[in-house]
Amino acid sequence: MTGNQTFTIIKPDAVKSEYIGAILADIQKAGFAISALKYVRMTVAQAEAFYGVHKERPFFPDLVTFMTSGPIVVAILKHDNAVEEYRKLIGATNPANAAEGTIRKKYAHNVQENAVHGSDSDENAAIEGNFFFSQCERF
Ligand code: GDP
Repeated sequence: MTGNQTFTIIKPDAVKSEYIGAILADIQKAGFAISALKYVRMTVAQAEAFYGVHKERPFFPDLVTFMTSGPIVVAILKHDNAVEEYRKLIGATNPANAAEGTIRKKYAHNVQENAVHGSDSDENAAIEGNFFFSQCERF
C-alpha cells in the first residue's frame, strides 16, 4: 500500500532564478494536487533539523548554507503513489544524470543547487509535511 501524499521544496536557486511559477505549473500539469503551500525562509537550526539524516555527509555544511541562503516554497502534494511518481517527475539528484523533461533537468544548476526536494518515502513525506504545516494549513 503506497501513500497519496508527498512533500516538496522549491529550493533557493530555483526561487532566485524565478522558476516558482514554471515549476508549480509542471507539478500541476503532471496531475499533482496542491494540498498545502507557503513561501518561507529556513533558519540554520531548521535546515540542520530538516536535513538531520545527512549530518555526517561531507556536503552537510554547504547544504545548510545553501538551503538558508534565501526563501523557498514548501508544499504538500497529492497523487496516487505520490512519493514514487514525484521522484520520477523531478529526476535524479544530479541534474547531469536527470532524464529529459524532468524538473531537475529543466531547472537545476548542479548536484547541490538542484531546484527541488522530493520526499524519499511515505514516512518522510509525513514527517516533512508536519515539519512545515499545521493541520489548518492543509486542504
Ligand atoms: P535527493 O533525495 O535527490 O534530494 O538527494 P539526497 O537525499 O541524497 O541529498 C539531499 C540534498 O543534498 C540533495 O538534493 C542536494 O541538494 C544535496 N546533495 C546531495 N548529494 C550532494 C553532493 O554530492 N554534493 C553536494 N554539494 N550536495 C549534495
